[in-house]
Amino acid sequence: MQLKMGERMRESPIVFLTIDVEDWYHIPSVTGSPFSVYTDVEEFFQKWQDRYDYLTEPTKRILNLLDEFNLRATFFVVADVIEHYPGLVENIAENGHEIACHGLHHEIYIHPKTKRPLLTKEEFKERTKNARKLLKKESKQRIMGYRAPGAYIGGWMVDTLEELGFRYDSSVSVNSLYNKTDSNLQGVSTIPYYPKKGSLECGSEIRKILEIPWPYLDILGFKLPTAGGPMLRFLGARVILMGIKQSLRRGPALFYFHPIDISNEKFPKIGNKRPLYWSIKGEIVEKRIRYILRKLLDMRVNLIPISEYMEEVL
Ligand SMILES: [Zn+2]
Repeated sequence: MQLKMGERMRESPIVFLTIDVEDWYHIPSVTGSPFSVYTDVEEFFQKWQDRYDYLTEPTKRILNLLDEFNLRATFFVVADVIEHYPGLVENIAENGHEIACHGLHHEIYIHPKTKRPLLTKEEFKERTKNARKLLKKESKQRIMGYRAPGAYIGGWMVDTLEELGFRYDSSVSVNSLYNKTDSNLQGVSTIPYYPKKGSLECGSEIRKILEIPWPYLDILGFKLPTAGGPMLRFLGARVILMGIKQSLRRGPALFYFHPIDISNEKFPKIGNKRPLYWSIKGEIVEKRIRYILRKLLDMRVNLIPISEYMEEVL
């Protein structure tokens, strides 16, 4: 079931502005996946002797950039950032942004190839509950949103999030390049929807949890993922903007990036299977973000945190 919007939301197009707060070692090639160098973040911190923090500096620049554009956003934060970057999450919250959950340690919970769960539902529940508790305490906000680390999401995870009282998940990306979910995503497009229980397909009933999927650019039936993130680095601003604009014709759309995408520093050369992952980043990506935000604002798009939309839908 797709969503009916409130009156105010129908008046002008909506793009959810979302930012994933994680550092260079949180990505699946370094920690927390079946193919990572270190099993998890804990092992990384036991063994890593050099500087690890490449996150604080670009995050502060993102906060300034949002101030400059007078925008508020949803920050999906990996909960262990609270422990290793004292004051950073508090700082984001104090700037008026929404804090949402991006896992406890950014470990992925379903196998990239088989899509089978990598932990039990109970373990996922415990970990996510713990992450939410930490984020709530630090931000003094009610944490209502979730984004799966690496966007690896299963229907059973959304069911668990609903049981925990989360109001939305924003991880599903329908496109022709990859499917990181355990479902075929038949009938799912780029509009917020209520998934069927036990899967991520479009359901027919209203649930307590809403899925907010990512935009794509449909070129003659081939769907290119255009939410942002790595695709913003690989494809450039114009393609991303085209996809967001096309998705806006279907309903609310979404834009996302990471603070580390705009870091001008060289990250430690470590990580399996992703030799070109950080080949484009820094100033050029910051320019792309500015270009997209400026163009959307020129189009009179409402760039908002997801929490603002959730107030309207229920
Ligand atoms: Zn992430």
